[in-house]
Amino acid sequence: MKRLYRHGQIASEESATLVRADVLVEGDRIIGVAPEITAGDDMEIIECEGRILLPALFDVHVHAREPGREDKETIQTCSEAAINGGITGMVLQPNTTPAIDTAGLVRTVLEIGKAKSRIAIFTTGAITKGRKSEELAPIGAMKKAGAVMITDDGDPVHNPQLLRIAMEYAKDFDLPLASHCEVKELSAGGCMHEGGVSYSLGLPGIPACSEEICLERDIRLAQFTGAHLHIQHVSSAIGMRAIQRAKQDGVRVTCEVSPHHLLFNHEHIGNYDTHYKMNPPLRTTEDNAALLQGLIDGIFDVIATDHAPHTEFEKNSDFATAPFGITGLETALPSLFDAYISKGIFGWDLLVKRYSAEPRRLIKLDPVPIKEGGIAEFIVFNPGRSTTFTREFMKSKSINTPFLNKEIKGLVERVIFNGNELLAR
Ligand SMILES: [Zn+2]
Repeated sequence: MKRLYRHGQIASEESATLVRADVLVEGDRIIGVAPEITAGDDMEIIECEGRILLPALFDVHVHAREPGREDKETIQTCSEAAINGGITGMVLQPNTTPAIDTAGLVRTVLEIGKAKSRIAIFTTGAITKGRKSEELAPIGAMKKAGAVMITDDGDPVHNPQLLRIAMEYAKDFDLPLASHCEVKELSAGGCMHEGGVSYSLGLPGIPACSEEICLERDIRLAQFTGAHLHIQHVSSAIGMRAIQRAKQDGVRVTCEVSPHHLLFNHEHIGNYDTHYKMNPPLRTTEDNAALLQGLIDGIFDVIATDHAPHTEFEKNSDFATAPFGITGLETALPSLFDAYISKGIFGWDLLVKRYSAEPRRLIKLDPVPIKEGGIAEFIVFNPGRSTTFTREFMKSKSINTPFLNKEIKGLVERVIFNGNELLAR
């Protein structure tokens, strides 16, 4: 049976103008996109009046917690959360227990992904064994097993010589090396951005220079080795400008921004709310504004959530001891729509480019534009409805999000992956 998505507005990375069109799907393919497609007896009609159809999203920074912390999340629950948010592919981070630092573990994670997930699962491999910054992990073997990127995310690679050698391997194996930038001596013991708010709350701070110094070091090493460096979760304006300069100088560097670093800052911590505790920490309103402008100007290559599930028990402890991170897969699209697209601050084209097309290109996949002959991998988003992020709504095992029980504009109504409807509401 063919499916006809009728009267929707199609978003693409090329144009800020939405195109009104009907979309016909058969098997795993889009077999027609036209202003009007005549309904046939062999078609199921899906009315999309008032809805936006956009290429499905792809997230390059996700913590699925498996193996080791299946009480927080599993690859299965994580992928269901992704579907709930309109995401049909994701790249898992290696800071599991044990760390994903061997070809065998890469294969295991990918096998679990195939068996338990309804979307496409990719994984990184660690740069160093156990992410300990002591000894290199087998980068070539992990690449052969399917790793699409290497990173010690959660921690920086402390030793610059080790990082230099890792970059040389990454270059030889044609893998992006992703960097969590932090100088531990500067950030040790800190739990939030160091500044006026940390002083008044009496909490130990993490200065922005902890991130910025590491970022500058890593850029210099990328320039020296010629490796592709991908900077993860940039939180500071100064760090972002360093990346911008490096790009202008021809360094192979890409970078990501997370929705929470755009939307929130240290003032949101208020009365020690651990849903605003993350690493790198939420910084200032000036950083929010600069990062948003950087996203609009194209300094950021991709949006990525850094989805980081934690149990309620852990997040309910005091601010200083609660773990870093919030979930993000289910809230990313509605929150970016509500805060920016619905207000005309940026268009659907930016979202499609930065959260669908470029993330796929980052790991050498083809983007999935809505076009005749293309793979049917898109979502139907209703800007006229709203989403309330209740426990019942969310599919993630964890609910550590500042959006918990909040209602925001926009609802992901349908998710189509390889022609199959994974979600319809
Ligand atoms: Zn990180």
